[in-house]
Amino acid sequence: MRTLRRIGVYCGSNFGAGDAFRAAAAGLGAELARRQIALVFGGTHKGLMGVVADAVLAAGGTAHGVITERLAGKGQLHPRLTSHEIAPDMRSRKARMLALADALIALPGGIGTVEEFMEAWTLNQLGDIDKPVGLLDVEGYYRAFRAFIDTMVTQGFLPGAHRDGILVRDAPAALIDALAAYQPVTVSKWMS
Ligand code: AMP
Repeated sequence: MRTLRRIGVYCGSNFGAGDAFRAAAAGLGAELARRQIALVFGGTHKGLMGVVADAVLAAGGTAHGVITERLAGKGQLHPRLTSHEIAPDMRSRKARMLALADALIALPGGIGTVEEFMEAWTLNQLGDIDKPVGLLDVEGYYRAFRAFIDTMVTQGFLPGAHRDGILVRDAPAALIDALAAYQPVTVSKWMS
């Protein structure tokens, strides 16, 4: 089992439609705090990112934000974080989050969330990092995304075993348990 001290969370800077996404973000924040796992995230008060951080803080946990200079300059830094740092740009911010976190979780989100998640998965696939990645799949939000991954497999761009390179659960506790138990995929990325 891995010891997870800090988990990086990627998620929407919007709330999404309906209440289920907010509830899941709050549930993840509370579960992190309960396990005394620090949150590492984008550092803003906006959207689901703010919901996760607020839930961590409300439960007495630790929330560390890594925000860019530009977004901090627009007043988007969450005002009550345990700690934060300001990165010069998005690329260095993503690198900092990956360096700090022992594992990564994506909640529902938009293109920023998916881009960050895919970078973390790709770096694991290439063996550049060994930090498990998981999707908190609330209300089947990632169903179509996972179907596209199946297409990558059937069309010969991704070995089937690499589907296991990401962990997918619909509840925070089950996802964190799976991340702690994760064993890297050993099948080569290249198929011929
Ligand atoms: P999106 O899913 O497109 O809303 O983008 C959210 C992801 O991009 C988050 O995980 C953040 O890392 C980053 N991001 C987007 N907007 C912000 C913001 N206002 N402050 C901090 N990070 C942001």
